[in-house]
Amino acid sequence: MDFTGKTAVVTGGGRGIGRAVCVRLASLGANVVINYAGNEAEAEVTRSLCANAVTVRADVSSEDECRRVFDLCEQTFGAAHLLVTNAGIARDNLLLRMPGEDFARVLGVNLKGAFNCTKLASLPMMKARYGRIVNISSVVALSGNVGQANYVASKAGLIGLTKASALELAPRGITVNAVAPGFIETDMTAGLSGEVRERMRGQIPLGRFGGAEDVAEAVAFLCSDKAPYITGQTLNVNGGMYV
Ligand code: NAP
Repeated sequence: MDFTGKTAVVTGGGRGIGRAVCVRLASLGANVVINYAGNEAEAEVTRSLCANAVTVRADVSSEDECRRVFDLCEQTFGAAHLLVTNAGIARDNLLLRMPGEDFARVLGVNLKGAFNCTKLASLPMMKARYGRIVNISSVVALSGNVGQANYVASKAGLIGLTKASALELAPRGITVNAVAPGFIETDMTAGLSGEVRERMRGQIPLGRFGGAEDVAEAVAFLCSDKAPYITGQTLNVNGGMYV
């Protein structure tokens, strides 16, 4: 895989899976625009690990803030060829106890954020008749999960967004796919108790949690010219925990 001369926008690229995606794409020659929400120090660490990269703070749930990401990309490297919508949050609670604003916020960041960025990235991609978009969904989009009605709805929505945008953008040479990670070791999963972790490990046929690099490799493949005929699909990276 070779991304020399290509530019990627990665949302939520400051930490975790997003950082691994930035580092992998950069190691293969891409320029990278690293978006983050508030943790500038972590985003700077990611930048230091990439040869050609800039960081930009923006809340992806806001279309105006997303526009700043793509404006900076245009000014620094030119239009983006690759978009990875990875920014995501969880606000878990049982359905009956879930405040409406927690439902709306998780949908706003995880799903509308991807919509905002897809819209902004796709116009220049359409003009160039080339583009690769990868949306980071989750295994729970397929399996469901107790206590995550908002998160599961957002991640299932991303699979719908992937299919609809893949069909719309295919005539312009743009592919759109989703990657659905299983249990990946990042800050998002670090807070789970030892008991929950052991129970979850027992449900993974490959016998281990995933690393952010496992996801980054799948994203890089779908972004690459090794995957020109794959679009509208969801690639599961979950150690077999849902097949
Ligand atoms: P993480 O370590 O919590 O990192 C989340 C990243 O998203 C951070 O860079 C954060 O920025 C950014 N972010 C959060 N809200 C944002 C907003 N409103 N606008 C822009 N950026 C925002 O999470 P992760 O585990 O790497 O997860 C990355 C993606 O994979 C998420 O979409 C998550 O749902 C998905 N996923 C994760 C797992 C897992 O097991 N870890 C499994 C399936 C799917 P700051 O650093 O500035 O806060």
